[in-house]
Amino acid sequence: MEREWIISSPVSHIPVVDLLKNALLWCGVFLTISLKEGEPVAARLIDGKALALQVRERLATESAAVLAKTGMKPGLATILVGDDPASHLYVKSKQKACDAAGIYIDDHKLPASTTQAELLALIEKKNADPKIHGILVQLPLPKHIDSKVVLEAVSPDKDADGFHPYNFGRLVEGHPVFEACTPKGVIKMIESTGVSIEGKRAVVVGRSNIVGKPLALMLLQRNATVTICHSKTKDLPAVCREAELLLVAIGKAKFVTADMVREGSVVIDVGTNRLPDGKVVGDVDFESVSQKAGWISPVPGGVGPMTIAMLLDNTVESAKRMAGML
Ligand code: NAP
Repeated sequence: MEREWIISSPVSHIPVVDLLKNALLWCGVFLTISLKEGEPVAARLIDGKALALQVRERLATESAAVLAKTGMKPGLATILVGDDPASHLYVKSKQKACDAAGIYIDDHKLPASTTQAELLALIEKKNADPKIHGILVQLPLPKHIDSKVVLEAVSPDKDADGFHPYNFGRLVEGHPVFEACTPKGVIKMIESTGVSIEGKRAVVVGRSNIVGKPLALMLLQRNATVTICHSKTKDLPAVCREAELLLVAIGKAKFVTADMVREGSVVIDVGTNRLPDGKVVGDVDFESVSQKAGWISPVPGGVGPMTIAMLLDNTVESAKRMAGML
């Protein structure tokens, strides 16, 4: 017959077997906690999709305020030349997001045979149209059209993409008006973590005019100490390891691995790369880096949705500026 030991105490009557079991259980929990403290902790996710939704909700309220004051919704003209399926998809998703944010869409789909002069004439018309506060010319344009000439034809006052040299120059001198959408989205993503940019060691990998360079300037404006890396940078892993904020935009699938990342850092992945199996991945090896970074953005669902949200943000901001609401 099994004996049951009872501790007689004023507090409780507990079988000794149960007491021993509980003690062992708590030892186990304690041991597990102690072991986990030495192990790498998984990074927190910077959810660009959820952040973009919040931005769209805020913009819907602001668009309603613009409509109430001016009798006009903020308006975005979208211009697409040719039949590139990816571009059609991008423009469609931008238009869908505009709808959700109460923005009027003025849609122009032109055949691939459109001449540069015809395209410039349309842009001129939109520059003068009071219903339009932002103009988006979807890139890439057909080869016979000079993208630089076209982007410079967009009025700097309606440059929702932030690509016009005037707006780039304003950013360089520290007084930006329209900021390029992708880097602006990256800044909002860093800010969403609560990690302060000021005084941080930031490393931007990639120096394109649409992502790397403007992003580096935006970080500088927020008092980070910024290093810009590119394909000729010597010992890139060592430079990246210094980064408290690591921002990657190079277009090379899973290029940044855990050995290139500082423990606890904020890692934002701008890259969008399609693998042979059709899967879309970033420039950062998410599986390994997420075990070392403090914060990390995924691909897809990271910078992509925030880029679209910032296009809408720029359009609504432009409408507010024109209505004297800023
Ligand atoms: P890009 O114009 O091709 O520029 C790539 C940059 O990466 C260049 O500065 C290049 O250096 C640098 N680079 C290339 N290989 C490198 C290496 N091995 N080590 C260090 N630096 C290297 O590209 P981008 O337009 O900035 O786009 C970058 C990526 O972001 C692409 O995957 C693109 O699809 C993606 N993207 C995503 C969004 C979004 O909304 N999610 C928006 C824009 C871009 P050099 O200057 O020395 O050649």
